[in-house]
Amino acid sequence: MEASSEKDMSQIQSAYAALCNNPVWRQMFEQNPAMQMLIEPVSRIVIDANPPACRFYGYKREEMQSLSLDQIELDESPEDDSPTESTLFIFRHRTRRGEQRDVKINASTYEIDGVSLTHLILVDITKRRRAEAAEQDQRAVTSALANTAAALNSSLNLHDVLDRILEQVQHIIDCDYVNIMLMENDYVTVVRSRGYEKVTDVDEYVSVKLNVNATPTLRWMVENDRMLFIPEISTDSRWSKLHTTEDWLTSYLGVPIRMGNQVIGFLNLDFATRAKFLGYDESALQAFADQAGVAIRNARLFERVRRQALLLEQRVADRTAELDYERRQLRAILDSMTDGVFYSDVDPEGRLQPRYINRAMARLLGVEPAEDLSRLVALLDALNVEDLEGPALQWSIHQALEQQSFASLQGLLNRDDGVGFEATMTTTRVDSSTGELLGAVTVVRDVSQEKALERQRSRFVAQASHELRTPLANMKTRLYLLRRQPDRLESHLPVLEKATGHMWRLVESLLDISRLERHAVQLELSDISVQETVSFVTEEHQPVIEERKQTLRVEMPGEPLRLIADADRVTQVLNNLIANASAYTPEGGSITVHVEGCAAVDSAGNVLPGIRFDVIDTGTGIPEDQREAIFQPFYRIVNNNDGSGLGLSITREIVRLHGGSIRVDAAPGGGSCFTFWLPLKAAAPEADDSGSDTLR
Ligand code: ADP
Repeated sequence: MEASSEKDMSQIQSAYAALCNNPVWRQMFEQNPAMQMLIEPVSRIVIDANPPACRFYGYKREEMQSLSLDQIELDESPEDDSPTESTLFIFRHRTRRGEQRDVKINASTYEIDGVSLTHLILVDITKRRRAEAAEQDQRAVTSALANTAAALNSSLNLHDVLDRILEQVQHIIDCDYVNIMLMENDYVTVVRSRGYEKVTDVDEYVSVKLNVNATPTLRWMVENDRMLFIPEISTDSRWSKLHTTEDWLTSYLGVPIRMGNQVIGFLNLDFATRAKFLGYDESALQAFADQAGVAIRNARLFERVRRQALLLEQRVADRTAELDYERRQLRAILDSMTDGVFYSDVDPEGRLQPRYINRAMARLLGVEPAEDLSRLVALLDALNVEDLEGPALQWSIHQALEQQSFASLQGLLNRDDGVGFEATMTTTRVDSSTGELLGAVTVVRDVSQEKALERQRSRFVAQASHELRTPLANMKTRLYLLRRQPDRLESHLPVLEKATGHMWRLVESLLDISRLERHAVQLELSDISVQETVSFVTEEHQPVIEERKQTLRVEMPGEPLRLIADADRVTQVLNNLIANASAYTPEGGSITVHVEGCAAVDSAGNVLPGIRFDVIDTGTGIPEDQREAIFQPFYRIVNNNDGSGLGLSITREIVRLHGGSIRVDAAPGGGSCFTFWLPLKAAAPEADDSGSDTLR
């Protein structure tokens, strides 16, 4: 208080007395319910206070009259948000009871007899100010919550959202450090944190795993299902230190994070200095913790959905790869087939929608694989089947659909270039796994070869039976005669022996050819001398040839020729050809056997060394159009009873078995020239290869 002199005081008192004599002043000061004071502006001593002011401050009037404003005014004045007016002030005052009140003061100064007195009208604005402050805080909380909600909506990344929550928490509560712990099987770990890097090694600090039941603060929150505020950790028994040094920590505030009725984690706020905590913070913080709960739930749901999506994606990719593999496998199978495949969808009206043909089908029909499929329908429809009128393919498909199984046709099918072949057409209906009709698969097979073989087989049987019939008939006649003329045994016996011999040779030849054709003959390979083998055979034939007054010439090179071959079979071939040459050459004719080393080119273009044998005669010769046929079993140009017509067939099979080839040409000056070629080392022939193609 500024010291005022006694003289001043008395001057002031008299000036105040003069004022009090004014009835208007008295009325205003004593009767008005507004709090009023009169002070000396320099010393700030209260000269008088009206009853409402005395009640407000809790002093008697005479007590007030000795007070200085300095005694009731607090140092920290609230911020003044009123419009700047020189006469308006806001102060924070303390009442006698120790309450702090914000007061708005309107001051006006009177000059009385040279003395200045200041009249104060006071308004208690504490409630309004508090309400305003609370509203401001609420507004901050609301906008922080709105921010976190926006973060929740904008990101499903849990860490992003938790970071935002921590940021917003720090925005509304002035804490130094904040973290979020998540619980799993009674244990918690810190998943996100802010601020700790300033005071400690964050990684180490947050790596701690805590048992909730063994950590009193956390257990308290779970049991009470509410937040926990510890203003002074050093004096609170619920606080247990995580680390030896936590000197940077004074207050703690924890909020349980809930999902439904379950606590799933904690929002932890740490304060370096002793924190003040106001009641309204609790609901705001719980709102943040609940936001965190929602974020965690959303993130977990999202994670589950994401994983499920990934799993599905993987499954789809696997299934696609599987289907692709199966499709490629199926295509490879279809393309490697020798039978033609045609697939057509069938719509509910029964119309065909051609979808696919395999390579074999394109080959069989003589078209490009990418050909317009509807054109191929016309080609397949033209299958010429006995007793069937109308389009064959369509008949076959409709038949298969109606019969719920398959339908088969056989007939002559024309390729695109008009060349026909014998074919079978089999159509099978295709149903989905649920039994719905999808389409039909038609398989076309070229059966020309099978048919030819079948014909050949039945001709063979007929011819063999026929060949056997002649000697058998002969024998039957002779046996009949013998029974009637037992005394003429001698004349019948040679005929019987001849017929038996003929039959024996015939059966032997039949067995031989059958074994050769079935590849049931194993060649006995050895290193043989060509010259010796040829000489041996020709010497054998010499007597018969001489008997027929024919000449035999043998032409062989001076240097020895050798072969790896079956000696008996090569002998058999030479025997056969020389015997034929002699048999089909008239008396006086000549037979030449010519041998020389010669290379051949196989179907793959390889040059193979070998030996060529020519057996040339001056006989009847073989018409050009029969030069292929004479190698067929039983084929004979002239039907002589001695021959069986099997010799050349057997010969050709033996040569093929050695990997060689045989052919016949006209010999110069008439007659025939049989040429066969053998490789230096016998090689097993390929399944349907007729030996080397070209002779040089
Ligand atoms: P065959 O036992 O009838 O001689 P082959 O299979 O050896 O049977 O001969 C078939 C047919 O080929 C003979 O019947 C004959 O008509 C004809 N042929 C074979 N070799 C000659 C040849 N050197 N000159 C003329 N025709 C021949």
